[in-house]
Amino acid sequence: MESAGINNVSAVLAHFPKRYEDRRQFDRFPTQPTAKPVCLTGGVIDATTKGFGKTRFYEAVIMDGSGGVFGSGKITCRWFNMPYMSKVVAAGQQVIAYGKVKEQSGRLVIDHPELEVVAADCISHAGAAIHLNRIVPIYRNISGINQRRLREIIHTLLHSTDPASLTFPFPVSETPRHADLLETHFPSSAESGKAARRRFALESFFTLQLNVVWQRTRYLAHDGRVLGKKTTLLKAFYENLPFDLTNAQKRSIREIIADMRQPRPMNRLLQGDVGSGKTFVALAAMLLAIDSGADAALMAPSQILAEQHFITFRKWLEPLGVNLVLRTAARREESRETHGPTIFIGTHALLYDPDLFTDLGLVIIDEQHKFGVVQRAALIRQGTLADVLVMTATPIPRSLTMTIYGDLDVSLLDEKPAGRGKIITALRNKPKQKDITDFVKAQLAGSRQAYLVYPLVDESETVRAESASEAFPKWQKRLGAENVGLIHGKLRPEEKDRVMEDFRSGKLQALVATTVIEVGVDVPNANLMILHHAERFGLAQLHQLRGRIGRGEHKSYCILLTDSKLPEAIEKLSILEKTSDGFEIAEADLALRGPGDILGTAQSGLTDLRFADFITDTALIRQARSLADEVFKKDPTLSGPHETLRPLITENRGAD
Ligand code: ADP
Ligand code: MG
Repeated sequence: MESAGINNVSAVLAHFPKRYEDRRQFDRFPTQPTAKPVCLTGGVIDATTKGFGKTRFYEAVIMDGSGGVFGSGKITCRWFNMPYMSKVVAAGQQVIAYGKVKEQSGRLVIDHPELEVVAADCISHAGAAIHLNRIVPIYRNISGINQRRLREIIHTLLHSTDPASLTFPFPVSETPRHADLLETHFPSSAESGKAARRRFALESFFTLQLNVVWQRTRYLAHDGRVLGKKTTLLKAFYENLPFDLTNAQKRSIREIIADMRQPRPMNRLLQGDVGSGKTFVALAAMLLAIDSGADAALMAPSQILAEQHFITFRKWLEPLGVNLVLRTAARREESRETHGPTIFIGTHALLYDPDLFTDLGLVIIDEQHKFGVVQRAALIRQGTLADVLVMTATPIPRSLTMTIYGDLDVSLLDEKPAGRGKIITALRNKPKQKDITDFVKAQLAGSRQAYLVYPLVDESETVRAESASEAFPKWQKRLGAENVGLIHGKLRPEEKDRVMEDFRSGKLQALVATTVIEVGVDVPNANLMILHHAERFGLAQLHQLRGRIGRGEHKSYCILLTDSKLPEAIEKLSILEKTSDGFEIAEADLALRGPGDILGTAQSGLTDLRFADFITDTALIRQARSLADEVFKKDPTLSGPHETLRPLITENRGAD
């Protein structure tokens, strides 16, 4: 009973403010729309329900109470479809309103502001000390409790609860935890509030890293095979290559060899921007595995990619007499006539066909972000003793690597093969179709090939954007029907293969496509990409798509088309004009969208993103990691001095 009570108190106190309002100093009433929210206080001079039918709204006009230099500023607050607001706000009240100001029919309005009534009769003398003349916490709503009430509850709990009961099983800071809790909820200054919050972010990251290191330790404790001692095949492959591997490729291969030779399972991430040459690193690793007598499997996220890898591998491996099998859901063409160590290439289908392998020694997962963490775990479970190499083309900020892939060792391909043509990226707002067509024609006339990318497969009733299917006949008219192909996710796999093959062989000059070509597709002769409705794609996705060009020696062009005038859209797209560095783009993406959007909360392992503002704080995440490492160094099984940390481990996460 008592302990349940304490748990509830902790839970309530862990409901941290989503933002603060400095109620010692309000914003001035603006005279024009604002880009950022403002916090205003004033008296309600008029409050009425307006509109009719579906567009009824409640409106309150607030007048500047300060009688400032500009006299009587006025702001209209509106709430649509929230009739109960008429019970909350009434004329004569003193209120605080927070929101972005826009202009509508000559009036300055805030739609759906966050609003709090502060009239004297609503707040007791004691209450005033909590709600006014200080930095005040604003919480995410808990249904049924209004801001003011919630603030009072938390204030009371903070001052009535025994500090000794508000503990975390590991002291991450020397400051008493209770003091940090107080500062987090009722900060004495903006800086001290943020500093206090860091403590709880650190606790949260520590818990995450504790789980990551735990999982890693458990995984590495399994026996692994010793592979990669024999390098005959690798040498033969290397001698046949018409070019040299990049230094980054060589370094990664060395790191992989070292891992494979260890009698514990490899658990490594190969991170490299699009076009950095991950495939050859994978190939090298697989050759090492089969040279030691094991099977090796490469799992691609799509049919197209599996096929493409198969073609590449066949080209390089046929001369070496290596057994190669393609296995996707659509195709099971190869029977295993050959015996002995084999390289398998496929999609998810590989996962569900464990009988396929005689002796799986190495698993490579390409383009990891397309697979969920769960699938990764399933695969690792299947080949408990296999070495695992995960390849990702999504450059993610360092802090997030440690969060999502923290259980993996990392090899970085931070260098691109020499002799690549430059990619010129240009943003065009509402250009003439004729100009676009002429440009495409000019490139095709020079024997190059083009991707014409659209966000949708089919016409949509809800989205006003041209789809690939609608655009296809138009492009056929413009460029000649026999020169243009259409590819999207709704085609049958054989059809996709055929179209892709026709494009690869040059039979088709232009490909009207959706994002099915997003990952991995490799046609070096294609040097032009026109991205229609570019604002509809995410930044990372645009970067991936652009990675389809600039793979040959020719100069390439990526044209981003948009009809949007929204500053956010333009800002996003112009990042791509400025840089082609995937890591820079990832950082920008993180800053623009926040980690939740990039990862999905499930993937990030952070069940709530209360600490989103800290997730780019690499130093903090490093600190969390080294604290976790120290714990395990002292107590690898968490059954000794750190037994109290055991409840922080979530067992159901993965591979064991
Ligand atoms: P990623 O999968 O990292 O995006 P790929 O492995 O598909 O990149 O390689 C991109 C292109 O670069 C391919 O056409 C490949 O043949 C070529 N390539 C890879 N490594 C080298 C290298 N060291 N020198 C020249 N070309 C290379
Ligand atoms: Mg690839």
